[in-house]
Amino acid sequence: MDDFRGLQDRFLDYVSYDTMSDASMCGKRRPTTAGQETLLEHLRDQLEEMGLETYYGKEKVVMGTLKGSGGTPVAFMAHVDTADDVPGNGVKPMVWENYDGSDIHLDGVTIKADENPDLSLCIGDTVITSDGTTLLGADDKAGVTIIMEAVRYLAGHPEISHPDIEVFFTPDEETGDGMSQFPYDRIRSRICYTVDGGAEDELETECFNAATAEVTFKGVVAHFGAARGKLRNAVVAAAALIGMLPGSESPEATDKDYGYYCASSVSGTPAEAHAEFLIRDFTDEGFQHRIDALDAAVKAIETLYHVKAENRVRISYRNMAAANSRSPEAVEAVYKAADKLSHRIHERLIRGGTDGARLAEKGVACPNLYTGGYNFHSLTEWVSVRMMKRCASLIVGIAEELAK
Ligand SMILES: [Zn+2]
Repeated sequence: MDDFRGLQDRFLDYVSYDTMSDASMCGKRRPTTAGQETLLEHLRDQLEEMGLETYYGKEKVVMGTLKGSGGTPVAFMAHVDTADDVPGNGVKPMVWENYDGSDIHLDGVTIKADENPDLSLCIGDTVITSDGTTLLGADDKAGVTIIMEAVRYLAGHPEISHPDIEVFFTPDEETGDGMSQFPYDRIRSRICYTVDGGAEDELETECFNAATAEVTFKGVVAHFGAARGKLRNAVVAAAALIGMLPGSESPEATDKDYGYYCASSVSGTPAEAHAEFLIRDFTDEGFQHRIDALDAAVKAIETLYHVKAENRVRISYRNMAAANSRSPEAVEAVYKAADKLSHRIHERLIRGGTDGARLAEKGVACPNLYTGGYNFHSLTEWVSVRMMKRCASLIVGIAEELAK
């Protein structure tokens, strides 16, 4: 296999695009920021140059198909937007060639070797960071780069048998809105690997079930000087509900496969208060229990505080484990391809979701592959060029496996 010589330059090209998404524009503009559209068009053009058939319509998802020689069609997906937890535009990437294992000093921040044990896997290789004033955008431009390089390789080596390969590049993953207008009826694959994970050789096959509960309390207002027996304060009701949730089942108190409740926003006046809660659980029973328990708490507050309450629950995504176990060949192909390359896969739970989890609801198996990127959404984000190449070779191997 060639050494994906152009991969580094391709990644540096993609991170030069300003593609930070903007949750406040969800539903008003798609993609939520113009830079995402510019990069999506660039990717469509590059896929066409490689000889893929493409589709890029009003949904603003780039779809490409590389014709194969038969077998189960398979898709690979990554997102073009970057998070807004720290500044994400105007990225000035720093290339650390022949990395020596020491701390990496950036403008105002340091990536410490002892806090990033996997940096020791990169000694002698190339590590890429930002200059310390922005994130890097390896989440998920590393995934975009890896998919593009794997597809370029397969398109240039027609002697390698592989099934039809579909490629999807989506906007607005970080806002949670990317899949709301995905052209679901255009997918042919029953397996779609997202390439949006982190550490080397990690494979993620399970994610949370996730819901958001939006609770509104309506109170009764009275002059505070003459409020006795009249005022029903919605702010107090909202605070009481938040206080009722078990602190031992919060994000800060849980890890591994334990779910949680999280009060994520609160605002209001005595007349009307709003609180938003995130509900997360890996099992279906646990998830439903949490939804029911929060609803029971809302009803209890309504009774105790004599306010009116409304609780609107929205399912955000479902654990992809069920869809993955219905199509075991998806995970098996990863292990078989990794075996041939002498890579050792580690499976891990995602305490979050992926865009793939939305496809899993439609029955599409959607394991998440690693990118070799670390410290996502932060000023200390870094990516290993060697790991990106490693994942590109894994994807080529997966495609070969699925041709059988
Ligand atoms: Zn991501």
